[in-house]
Amino acid sequence: MAQGPASGDLIETDALVIGAGPIGLFQVFQLGLLDIRAQVVDALPAPGGQPLELYPDKPIYDLPAIPVCTGRELAQALLRQIRPFGAGMHLGQTVTALETAPDGRFQLATHTGTRFLTRTVFIAAGVGAFEPRRLKVEGLARHEGRQLHYRVDDPDTLAASDLVIVGGDESALHWAAHFAADGPQRARSVTLVHRRDVFDAPPDLQSRVQALREQGAIRFVPGQVGACEADGDGPLAAVQVNLNDGGSLRLPLDHLLVFQGLSPKLGPVAEWGLAMERKQLVVDTEKFATSVPGIFAVGDINTYPGKRKLLVSGFHECTLAAYAAAPIVYPDRPVLLQYTTTSPKLQQRLGVLPPAP
Ligand SMILES: Cc1cc2nc3c(=O)[nH]c(=O)nc-3n(C[C@H](O)[C@H](O)[C@H](O)COP(=O)(O)OP(=O)(O)OC[C@H]3O[C@@H](n4cnc5c(N)ncnc54)[C@H](O)[C@@H]3O)c2cc1C
Repeated sequence: MAQGPASGDLIETDALVIGAGPIGLFQVFQLGLLDIRAQVVDALPAPGGQPLELYPDKPIYDLPAIPVCTGRELAQALLRQIRPFGAGMHLGQTVTALETAPDGRFQLATHTGTRFLTRTVFIAAGVGAFEPRRLKVEGLARHEGRQLHYRVDDPDTLAASDLVIVGGDESALHWAAHFAADGPQRARSVTLVHRRDVFDAPPDLQSRVQALREQGAIRFVPGQVGACEADGDGPLAAVQVNLNDGGSLRLPLDHLLVFQGLSPKLGPVAEWGLAMERKQLVVDTEKFATSVPGIFAVGDINTYPGKRKLLVSGFHECTLAAYAAAPIVYPDRPVLLQYTTTSPKLQQRLGVLPPAP
């Protein structure tokens, strides 16, 4: 899949899809079948939305013709399915601005400065942009990106240092085990801080962490970070942990990794002047159009009479929204219903048949 260009560039496209959750990804597929080029933006570093972030290893049983698949498998399968259309993926970026351009197209911008000019917009923003839950400790925020991390982008930069890892979920345990294990990225020390000695992670990962604790490669501290210590404007030197038994413990560190889960922020979507009801975008059920022509809303972000927040409903919405967008992108082309089974044109677009000479 094509990666997006550097921030600051202006990208012209037929369709901009906000959200790379399952519905945003399937929107790309339905648009691709109709020969509509799309770019996709997501606040998260990986495409997949709720199934990948909230229940990657849990089984989904109600997808048509797929008796069972996990959240992760669903994301992988959708990415495979849209590969032929080469949509640009702009990850780790939140769409903050959406306005109408003088020529009737839409101008959008992300918080990192990528800008888009597009004929149509598909808001597939689910329950909002997922952001890490931040650790609320006075004076800590200014260390974010240097010594305070809510995700690990480059593990090499954390190797051979003193790490304090806060959290009890799969990410916290994964990175604790990763940096404590023998290997080129091994840390000098790994301290895992969590409220309780109970974790929310797959059993095999919990067993691995337990074994590393028994070997002394991971130190476990039951408690919560209550304060941080830095020399004036200098680097973060240590955190103070309030222990469950009422005492406190100073933990010197080079890096603090915090995994407290993600929380969705509807944020900018609510500020674009689109009709909303209870934090959802109001759409019709013929085109899944919002109150602004050319802007569609699909998946968990929309509402209409009888709406059910299910994957299968969102997939249906993508199909009709794509058909409704086709006359905007190709005003002179009739929009015909074709079957992927029998249409050479669709099979060419899917890359199953070679392009027409
Ligand atoms: C625990 C759990 C189990 C579930 N099980 C099932 C099930 O068995 N069957 C079923 O049908 N459904 C199930 N669901 C519901 C299903 O996951 C949702 O209906 C589905 O994920 C909605 O997809 P979506 O693409 O609309 O939104 P999401 O999956 O929420 O994806 C939206 C994406 O948009 C991004 N985004 C939002 N705003 C912005 C912005 N401004 N800029 C950039 N990116 C943005 C977000 O980061 C996110 O990645 C379950 C949900 C949960 C929580």
